[in-house]
Amino acid sequence: MLVSDAIAKLGTETAFDVLARAAKLSAEGKDIINLGIGQPDFKTAPHIVEAAIKALRDGLHGYTPARGMPELTEAVAADILEHRQVAISPDNILIVPGGKVTMAFAMMLLGQAGRAILYPDPGFPIYRSMIAYTGAEPIAYALPEENGFSFSAQEILDKIRPDTSLIILNSPGNPTGGMAKPGEIEALVRGLEDHPQVVVMSDEIYSRLTLGEQPFVSLLGYESLRDRLIVLDGWSKTYAMTGWRLGWGYWPDGLIDKAERLAINIHSCVNAPTQVAGVAALTGDQAPVEAMRQAFIRRGKLVTEGLNALPGVSAIAPQGAFYAFANISQTGYSAAKLQNAWLNEAGVATIAGTSFGAAGEGFVRLSFANSDENIRSALDRMDTWLAGIQS
Ligand code: PLP
Repeated sequence: MLVSDAIAKLGTETAFDVLARAAKLSAEGKDIINLGIGQPDFKTAPHIVEAAIKALRDGLHGYTPARGMPELTEAVAADILEHRQVAISPDNILIVPGGKVTMAFAMMLLGQAGRAILYPDPGFPIYRSMIAYTGAEPIAYALPEENGFSFSAQEILDKIRPDTSLIILNSPGNPTGGMAKPGEIEALVRGLEDHPQVVVMSDEIYSRLTLGEQPFVSLLGYESLRDRLIVLDGWSKTYAMTGWRLGWGYWPDGLIDKAERLAINIHSCVNAPTQVAGVAALTGDQAPVEAMRQAFIRRGKLVTEGLNALPGVSAIAPQGAFYAFANISQTGYSAAKLQNAWLNEAGVATIAGTSFGAAGEGFVRLSFANSDENIRSALDRMDTWLAGIQS
């Protein structure tokens, strides 16, 4: 078979590998607590599920406009006004099957050989994977722990070259749980005025899951950037809808038609009942979102306190999402070794920081999308295991 060379450049998401290994161990009768998983442990709220069932019963079985049902793009624009205080046109919204699709489209539109794309390391692994797939050069920027896992605007600006086409930002961030500092965002936006060719893709998929004092700042708030800004968000995390596959992208006038063209060529549209569910999610009761956020706030504290009590481990408090990025450099183990030992010997699934880039060495990601009870047991197991290697 003459498979294309580009496919060999694609990476993967270790979270799915760890999930499969944890599932296999569970199937063999081992008791595994999964802190590897990147999805809320909550069910989609019943009113959202009912809306989709009704849509199916009502006969919404056909294609929708490729950009999404007008009711949905309008609901997204209203949601942006409510949560980001920015008035945008529904014509700038493209509904897609999951946040990842906005990411892939951004890379496909702006990446090619001879271009450079800046991405966070540690960061969501698909960024680097898709950049490489397009043939563009992936250029990492840092999210130092001592900086609260926030980027430095100066570092990003210093790394911009004439062939830089795209900068990827992600706040609140996966895997770190850190958030970009408002001052750094401002400095970056100001600095980008000197680089008018550069597009920014702001991955704001965890925008509603803020856990601390730090405010969420959307890049959409900066008017000077809006004609070269792509915003990625969706329903997966906010509404516990990862398996529904529903996301939205804000695209500037110069890119929306091109993104729509990719959609028409690749998936035509998102299935209609899911889009109806998306309207119900945005326009319905938001109490389940807040209840979930409160649970993550409580568990974030539990995990951080627990991690800081483990020998050789420390963790700063996550500001958003549902991840703690534990510093394990004093354990004497590499991230991958510790991930494997904790899975096989302690029965706790976590993800090595190196799954999110080379700068993740010395860290392990723990998701707290699991019950308080399981989190406590997992911390006990890790404690016992760490005490065992020291004796
Ligand atoms: N962006 C980040 C930072 C994520 O962590 C994820 C999922 O884990 C996504 C995007 C993709 O979301 P979706 O499941 O909607 O494709």
